[in-house]
Amino acid sequence: MQKKVIIVGGGAAGLTCAVRLKQINPGAAVTILEQNDRVGKKILKTGNGRCNLTNLDMRPEYYNHPDFMEKCLKRCSAREVIAFFNGIGLLTRTDSEGRVYPYSETAASVLDVLRRELEKNNIEVVCGAAVREITKKDTFIVKYDGGEAEGDYLVLACGSQAQAETNGYDLAVRFGHAIIPVRPGLVPLRTAESLRSVSGLRVKCQAEVVRGTDTVHRESGEILFKDEGISGILTLNLSRHAAPGNAVVIDFLAGTDRKTVAKLIESRPEPEALTGILPKMLARAVTQNLDGFSAAKVLAALENFRLTVSGTYGFGQAQIAMGGVDITGINDDFSSRLVPGLYMVGELLDIDGACGGYNLHFAWASALIAAESLGFEKK
Ligand SMILES: Cc1cc2nc3c(=O)[nH]c(=O)nc-3n(C[C@H](O)[C@H](O)[C@H](O)COP(=O)(O)OP(=O)(O)OC[C@H]3O[C@@H](n4cnc5c(N)ncnc54)[C@H](O)[C@@H]3O)c2cc1C
Repeated sequence: MQKKVIIVGGGAAGLTCAVRLKQINPGAAVTILEQNDRVGKKILKTGNGRCNLTNLDMRPEYYNHPDFMEKCLKRCSAREVIAFFNGIGLLTRTDSEGRVYPYSETAASVLDVLRRELEKNNIEVVCGAAVREITKKDTFIVKYDGGEAEGDYLVLACGSQAQAETNGYDLAVRFGHAIIPVRPGLVPLRTAESLRSVSGLRVKCQAEVVRGTDTVHRESGEILFKDEGISGILTLNLSRHAAPGNAVVIDFLAGTDRKTVAKLIESRPEPEALTGILPKMLARAVTQNLDGFSAAKVLAALENFRLTVSGTYGFGQAQIAMGGVDITGINDDFSSRLVPGLYMVGELLDIDGACGGYNLHFAWASALIAAESLGFEKK
């Protein structure tokens, strides 16, 4: 008997789930309902238009729920994701830090190969179809703008449309699932201090999030100063761990020989000495409150530039939403523990990862695992 699967959301997870389902069971009838005028819009924005699709350095601890992710990554790690994309005609390349991109370094290539598979496999795609209501008796009845669809299985792959009129969270709640409060993640941080004088400067450094006396997270990379906060990949990663009131403590000397720096300062004991170490305006900002200019004091200031987190920028500047459908209601194969036949995948779930391909990896991996578990016979 032909089984029918409805997938709500034609993003990274929804498209992958549909394609894999048809690879496993060409006889299945698969429909994607997408509220936008076309599928995969967000994929095009990823990785600055290059789409960092996964990372060879794939570890559970790069995610907020390492125990859950350990099982997920055992079933579907970077190699499996690359193999899936190779299998649908996408060549990839890997940079020196393990980040995997399409060989073309164009996100459109990723979307193009997925779209080609949709067409080749007669996967029905309905765009402009915002799903408003779903009920379940024997089957799922899905009401969307302009129509209604019926499926034996339902996959919610709605991503993090946190502000949308009817988003995936509402749909999940109606099935009894709990939602962990949703907030912007991988997002610039606002600071209590104004940073206008150094706005636009980029500096390589190490920084840590400090809560009380505890270091919550430490990371190296590049910080970009903004008028009222900090950005750059280093900050985006810090944002997953920072809360208002926490401090971000920046060490501008990480990776340098501190004795050499001390000698340099001792040989020129005036604030201008620092202009050979940091951009001039930043050197001023770091030393402006110093009481005296000794090497010891300057070193301490360079190693402990302290900012206070007052909040984050909004969803418009965030790469992901943190929070989402509580994973305690989800089985390892991404089926619902509450509703037979219901699956949830991708960013809709309360799983978030670091910058570097980890969030797309989760979208692809959860979708591939769900597709393989949907109750069909494997070829
Ligand atoms: C600027 C930017 C850059 C990024 N770069 C990277 C990167 O390089 N590497 C990386 O790993 N991650 C990156 N991310 C994160 C990554 O894009 C997401 O983790 C990923 O897209 C999540 O996939 P998803 O399919 O779960 O959700 P989405 O891609 O958001 O797809 C969900 C889809 O569901 C649709 N939808 C929602 N509600 C409904 C409804 N009620 N009815 C019908 N349709 C609905 C939406 O319109 C959307 O098309 C980036 C994100 C941003 C914003």
